[in-house]
This record gives sequence, C-alpha cells and structure tokens, in this order.
Amino acid sequence: MSFSALERSQIWENLGNEYFDVLIIGGGITGAGIALDAVSRGLKVALIEKNDFASGTSSRSTKLVHGGLRYLKQFEFALVRDVGLERAIVCRNAPHVVSPERMLLPIVEGGSLGKTLSSIGLWVYDFLAKVPKEERRKMLSKEKTSTSEPLLRTDILKGGGVYYEYRTDDARLTIETLKRAAELGAVCLNYAEAKGFEYEQGKINAARVQDMLSDTGIYPKKAPFIHIKAKKIINAAGPWVDTLRSKDTDGIKGKRLHLTKGVHIVVPKEKLPIQQSVYFDVLKDKRMVFAIPRGKITYIGTTDTNYTNGIDNPVANYADINYIIEAVNELFPTVRLTPDDVISTWAGLRPLIHEEGKSPSELSRKDEIFIAPSGLISMAGGKLTGYRKMSEKVVNLVCKDLGIKKPCITKGLRLSGGNFNSAKEIQHFTELRIGEATQIGLSAAVITDWVSKYGTNTDLILEYAYKMARQYTKPAELAHAAELKYAIEQEMVYTLSDYLVRRTGRLYFERPSLAEWQLPIGEMMSQFFNWTEEQKLRNLALFQKEYKEVMNWKTEIK
Ligand code: FAD
Repeated sequence: MSFSALERSQIWENLGNEYFDVLIIGGGITGAGIALDAVSRGLKVALIEKNDFASGTSSRSTKLVHGGLRYLKQFEFALVRDVGLERAIVCRNAPHVVSPERMLLPIVEGGSLGKTLSSIGLWVYDFLAKVPKEERRKMLSKEKTSTSEPLLRTDILKGGGVYYEYRTDDARLTIETLKRAAELGAVCLNYAEAKGFEYEQGKINAARVQDMLSDTGIYPKKAPFIHIKAKKIINAAGPWVDTLRSKDTDGIKGKRLHLTKGVHIVVPKEKLPIQQSVYFDVLKDKRMVFAIPRGKITYIGTTDTNYTNGIDNPVANYADINYIIEAVNELFPTVRLTPDDVISTWAGLRPLIHEEGKSPSELSRKDEIFIAPSGLISMAGGKLTGYRKMSEKVVNLVCKDLGIKKPCITKGLRLSGGNFNSAKEIQHFTELRIGEATQIGLSAAVITDWVSKYGTNTDLILEYAYKMARQYTKPAELAHAAELKYAIEQEMVYTLSDYLVRRTGRLYFERPSLAEWQLPIGEMMSQFFNWTEEQKLRNLALFQKEYKEVMNWKTEIK
C-alpha cells in the first residue's frame, strides 16, 4: 500500500470503504509495531494518526534502544531481560537506524551505585541481556576512567564502567516500521483523527475519523468524517490513551495513565566535548542522565517530572533546562555550561501506568493491555526498545479472538531500508554510493547521512537526485531537493515540520543551519505540491512556530 503524500485521496477512500481485521489508532512506535506484526501475519490492517507519524512521544525520547540499566536499581529483572534481549533484535532488523554505542558509567562518591554494585549490576545486565562478548562491560580504575573522559571531575571519582547501549533515531525507527507495514499491505494515514466510536450490540466496530490536514492551515477542508470499520480496534495513542478511552462507552475504569515529562537539551559539541556517551549521576536527587555526542552536537537528558498540562505540545521550561545544566556542571565542572549554550531542546511525555504514592522515577516502565467490555483494546506503558514484543503480545491476543493461528514473524523481519547483515556491509554500501554520487557533486557527508537515515532506500533518493541534477545545480540544493522529494513521495510528508522534525531530526540536531535553509526548503516544497503563495507562507509559519517553541523557555529568564 502506498505511503506517498501524493496518494492521500486514494488512501482515505480505501480506509472508508474496506472492512479491516484491525484498526490501530496512533502512529507512534507502539502503533507502528502493532501494524507491522498484524499485517505480517496476514491480517487486513489500517492505522491512523491524528497528527504526523511519531509526533507524540516517539520523536521525543532519549533515542536509545537500551536494556534499561536503571531498572536494575528497582529490581525489575524481567523488564531488564526482555528489553535487553530485544535490543539485539531491533538492531538486526534496522541496522541503519540502530547501532551500538559505547557508554561510560562514572562511579562517584555520593552516586547511586558504588564500585562493587556497579560491577555486579553491569554483569547482571550483560547476563540478562545476553550481551555479545565484544560489548560486555569493562570496569575501569579511577585513573583509566579519567583518561577515558578527561572532563570528568576527579575529586569524587572512584572509577568507572564501560558498557554498550544502542543508539537510534526514534522517529525514523517508527517511520521505517510503518513503511515496512505499508509495503506488506497495511493502510496507514497521518493527519486522521479518531473522534469517536460506533457500536453494534454494545461491541465497538468502527471509529469515526476526521481528516485533520486542513487544521494545519495549509490544505483545504476535506469531507468531514469517515467510518473505518474493523473487527478489532486498538488504542495505541500513547499519552492520549485515556483521552481515547474516555470516548468509549465504557470510559476509563480501573488503571489509568500517569504522565511524566522528560526534557533534553542540545549544545554544540565543542561546549561539551566528551569522548563518548556518558551515563552519569545527578547527585542531588540520585537520578541518572545521559550525555550523548551525535555529529556536531551533544544532547543531554532527561528530566522526569509529573505532568498535568496540555498533552498536545509539551515544551521545555527554564526549570528543566536549569536542572540539566546544573547536572552537567556538577560532574564536568570545567565546561561551565550556561543557558546561552543551548541551541535546541525537546520534551516528551511518558505514558506510564499510575501507581499510588510513587514518584515519577519510581513508576514502572512496564507495558499493559486494558480491554474494555466494549472490546476496545488499549496498550500503554512500555518502551521504544520493547515495541516489537509489546506488539507481539497484543496481536497474539487479537489473533486468538479472531481464531487466526499465525505465529509472530517480526523477529526476523527487516524494517524498510534495513537490508544489511553487518556494519561492514553498511560501510561498503556507503562507500560505493559516495563514489557514484560525486558525479553529480554530492558530498560523502550527505551520502553517509542518507544511509544512516534511509539505509538501502538511499538508492531511491539518489535516483531522484540524478533526475533533478539539471534543475538544481548547487550540490547542497540538489541534496535537499532529492531528500525532500523522497520524503513526500515515500514517507508521507505534508508540512515542513514533518520533514525537518520527524523525518530528518534537523530541528533538534541541526537547528542553527535551519536559519538559512528553512526558506529554500519551504520554497521547494511549495513547488513540489504546486501551492499558492498563501499555502507556502502558512507552511513556513507553521514550522516557525515549532522552530521558536523549542527555545521558548528563554522568555522565562529574567
Ligand atoms: P506516542 O509516540 O505518543 O504515539 C501515540 C500517537 O497516537 C501520537 O502520535 C498521537 O498523535 C496519536 N493519537 C493520539 N490520539 C489519537 C487519535 N484520537 N486518533 C489518531 N491518533 C491519535 N524508550 C526507550 O526505549 N529508550 C529511550 O531512550 C527512551 N527515552 C525516553 C525519554 C523520554 C523523555 C520519554 C518521554 C520517553 C522515553 N522512552 C524511551 C519511552 C518511549 O519513548 C515511549 O515508550 C514510546 O515512544 C511510546 O510510544 P507510543 O507509540 O506508545 O506513544
């Protein structure tokens, strides 16, 4: 099934006319994983997303596929084992967007784990997650830790541990999962919101869905509602799970969500020039945060605070920024980070299950399924890392109810663009494309970036680039034009924000360069879609809002 923005009317029509086995509401990683699992077992699948795919929590995480070392502290061994084992599978299925990341764990006086406990903890972690030999933990002396990371303060340093996590781009992982689901026949659409449900003899059998694209202000109004009919309806709405449950006749009974906010800040690499990723203690509250170098920046996070404001667009506030800056300066005193060093931020909401009397950091990250008497299935909690297992669980349940005996096959199913067997293969593929691309002036950096985002689908972008090389004679313009065309025709991009935030992550990782590039890219987009001047300006204004919002906390500084 198409995943092109240019075929929206056809997809919309399809959604209204077909009778599906499963309708999934929510296009974050949970919904995407469920769609892929269900369609790969032969079910007829539809998925709708009210905003852009991955615009909820799934573009706002720490972007790690990880075993959750911190859960050892809470003795959640089963969770550590499950997500730890999953890391390897997620990496194998999408090696272009998931790769091993060396992580340093400094052990400091007053920190949450002592030397012995850290050593045992990391060993248990390796054991539970069946970590391959080359990635197993190594304990370091104080001197070796300090040599490995010279910026660490030495007065409280006792030693360190080195272990491996996997880094990813959450939004790209979501998109590659959805694209694979669509390749296998799932009908997926963004900007389509479930506003309510329909019932037959008390059982849920359809969702009333509205086209939300006109809400962007760029596109004209479409037919108001369609009914998407399905045997099973799954609520994978992340932080909105309870909002959607409240639209069901049964409302919210029993367990409910507890939202906590997590913020990350981005600084230029030279402001925090660490040698590797570091997972370090915040001494005042015994939490731990990550500092992760990525290209020309380092990002640091996260906070974990109760959240009760509007769900649709959480943003960082000054207290969040200050907390992270203080944590960095406490452990890396010579860097003297200030709010002025921050060049971007993001904030996300954890859709956790409420437990009476627990603080945000104590709440379990376990996933749970709620089944309402109406038949509405809701899935909440969980982690990006465990999305495949979570999906397996819920699709097993659906298959059982529908009398379908098909086992889960996603363990060996490559995501879109992920057809590589090793890091060496990725390198070889990249080198070959770099060689070809120089003919049209594209740099090695552009190709390397494309391969890390789109994997083997880079070939399609290169095809576009060859075709457009006469029209765009400047290499940087050609690169943007080809990538944007791919995003529109193959990744359902409708707005500049879709492209610069969720498909490419540029708002977070390359924000300063967007001062120069948002206009020309907006212009290209307008040409591709054949927009009026007014539509073009609205698209730019919509992005400008997001561009400014990530730095809104600055207005709080007196
Ligand atoms: P979401 O991504 O929020 O998706 C739900 C979607 O449903 C949204 O896009 C929303 O627009 C849509 N929706 C809602 N209502 C409707 C409706 N009525 N109709 C249609 N669509 C609707 N996990 C890890 O494994 N590793 C990490 O490093 C990590 N770091 C994290 C850091 C932070 C700060 C946070 C907040 C979370 C982190 N997590 C991490 C957890 C992980 O990000 C989440 O568990 C995961 O992204 C949740 O995905 P989801 O699909 O359930 O929710």
